[in-house]
Amino acid sequence: METRSGFAVIIGRPNVGKSTLMNHLIGQKIAITSNKPQTTRNRIRCVFTDERGQIIFLDTPGVQKARNKLGKYMERVTKSSIAGVDVILYLVEPSPYIGEGEKAIIRELSNQSAPVILVINKVDTISHDDVLPVIEAYRGLYDFAEIVPASALRGAGCDDLMDTVFKYLPYGPLYFDPDTITDQPERAICAEIVREKALHALSDEVPHGIAVMIDRMKLRQGDSPIYDIDATIVCERDSHKGIIIGKGGAMIRKIGTNARYEIEKLLDERVNLKLWVKVKKDWRNSDALIKNYGYREDDEEMM
Ligand code: GDP
Ligand code: MG
Repeated sequence: METRSGFAVIIGRPNVGKSTLMNHLIGQKIAITSNKPQTTRNRIRCVFTDERGQIIFLDTPGVQKARNKLGKYMERVTKSSIAGVDVILYLVEPSPYIGEGEKAIIRELSNQSAPVILVINKVDTISHDDVLPVIEAYRGLYDFAEIVPASALRGAGCDDLMDTVFKYLPYGPLYFDPDTITDQPERAICAEIVREKALHALSDEVPHGIAVMIDRMKLRQGDSPIYDIDATIVCERDSHKGIIIGKGGAMIRKIGTNARYEIEKLLDERVNLKLWVKVKKDWRNSDALIKNYGYREDDEEMM
């Protein structure tokens, strides 16, 4: 069966049940749940893999800190979280009264193109008849791809939700090796950092077609230890490759510099990061697993 693979983000106001939902959805199959604070800072939270494919859940850092100026804050957090993801899970309380915090999130949602699944959480706290008015209230504000009532705490609706997430992910190979990733969360996080920096630096024409592979990650011991990291940015078109490289290599250097800075913070070591760009037409539809895209003779070294 052809797998689906992609990035999902869970957003929503503090206390709506994002963490509870994440834990429930992932169950025992946690590949990455580092308890390192850096993991959260860098937004990767966990990877779910089964025969349907792979969902990489991204965290929304700092949402808990929202106190003042909630609306503005939510806009900012939402904006930075949803850039470049394949699907957005938006959790809300099961109430038809929609406050300013929610409206700020919804405003931000309307600026991007990924499908939004509205999750009306905590339905265990209301009666069955009260669910419909909540659905109606939200439906009036935004064109949600799906609306799923759920109880993250009790697990109600969670299987449906997982099916729904997969439905909106593109067909394609797994981003992360389901086996080796467990003991190497840093690798996945580094890949995600490079991807994030690329998304930031590139214009809208490229991002959805890129993936990042860490080909090598090795600590050179010695008086001044340094990590050698080789990463490949896989894109779909020659024109995209040109954009990613940029004039005289300026773009790829910028991505590399920004990524290296953050990876050094993460690993607390110096980092020698080499980025490569590779065109793999329709890689999302190819049978080959993305993890197999290693370095080959015809690759160009970019920095
Ligand atoms: P977050 O801030 O969005 O990550 O919210 P949490 O996952 O930390 O949940 C906040 C509180 O809501 C916790 O006390 C959870 O137990 C509770 N909670 C989360 N989901 C549900 C649910 O489906 N039903 C009920 N009754 N409580 C829930
Ligand atoms: Mg939380």
